[in-house]
Amino acid sequence: MTDLRPAFVPECDHHVDSFRIRHYPGVTPETWTDWRWQLRNRIRDLEEAERLFVLTDSERAAIRKRTGMLPLGITPYYAALLDPDDPRQPLRRTKIPTLEEFERHGDECEDPLGEDAHSPVPGLVHTYPDKALFLVTDFCATYCRYCTRARMVGGGEFLPQKGMWEQTLDYIRDHSEIRDVLLSGGDPLILADDRLEWVLERLHEIPHVEFLRIGTKVPAVLPYRITPNLLRMLRKFHPLFFSIHFTHPEELTLEVRQACERLADAGIPTGGQTVLLKGVNDDPEVMKSLNLGLLRVRCKPYYLHQCDPIEGSAHFRTSVETGQEIIRHLHGHTTGYAVPTYMVDTAGGGGKVPVSPGYIEGREGDQLLLKNYQGRDTRYWDPV
Ligand code: SF4
Repeated sequence: MTDLRPAFVPECDHHVDSFRIRHYPGVTPETWTDWRWQLRNRIRDLEEAERLFVLTDSERAAIRKRTGMLPLGITPYYAALLDPDDPRQPLRRTKIPTLEEFERHGDECEDPLGEDAHSPVPGLVHTYPDKALFLVTDFCATYCRYCTRARMVGGGEFLPQKGMWEQTLDYIRDHSEIRDVLLSGGDPLILADDRLEWVLERLHEIPHVEFLRIGTKVPAVLPYRITPNLLRMLRKFHPLFFSIHFTHPEELTLEVRQACERLADAGIPTGGQTVLLKGVNDDPEVMKSLNLGLLRVRCKPYYLHQCDPIEGSAHFRTSVETGQEIIRHLHGHTTGYAVPTYMVDTAGGGGKVPVSPGYIEGREGDQLLLKNYQGRDTRYWDPV
């Protein structure tokens, strides 16, 4: 198996445990692997961050300055994967804020996808004809510095009451064109099993809702959440799909690989969603390593997302050409299952547009002129 260990630790599969013993003495393995303990003990403030990481001036100032939405929040498990000394380490860049986050460039705005304008009731986005996005909470296990919903996650970390969800459920019941509901947030998997079950049950009994999906980063940042009880509950709601947000092959630790395997064993098809990020994963070999690693745990790389122009994200954004080069590097050069669709989410609710590179060069009569994966000119007989 390809070595997916973080570069700064020699023994990844034991690294998380060594981190626990060093930084959380007295915390037993049973407590450490309790997902609720992990949530209660997230790194939320400067004092705790200073205890675990050698911070730069920019990181320290950004943690002090950040108030309100998109706070600092890192599970102790995920903190073990961050390099304590190197602020340029890819995973660390995605979780510890810097002052670059407070700069504004070009078309950046709070809600670049125009989700608020397509929200007929609070907590629901209905942009496409037959699918809807159900935002069940604003709480995430770990906050990503490039989050598209930075405007609304982590503010109060509210756990919505069932009454708040009823309005959304009523809207879905009243719109028979909705066949696909994606639960997102925030992260649906931070809900307790019984609360998540309550929502899934209500959605499952709506006759026109044919598929349920859960969009989550929890398997990557809090793999202990994928418990036997959760899986037993989820199995009742097939067809249920998971879209799991992965960023870098260094996330594919033993714990995460086991969590993905458990989901697959429960009959839940999983797809990987990755945001293309400058200096983090904008390297063809890094992306290939991530995608092949996901396939090994039966998670199909589904979408590669261009980083949305939320405020303060310019330091993460690459050109679209960079993303296309990565797809060119994958297509034909490795198994097709490892090639995601590259997407740009367009302004003001225009929706996702595939921007994977084209291979059609033109036409000569009945011949379509094509470029193959090696860059060689080739043809296909395609009578008009
Ligand atoms: S887990 Fe998802 S919703 Fe939460 S901060 Fe990260 S990208 Fe945003």
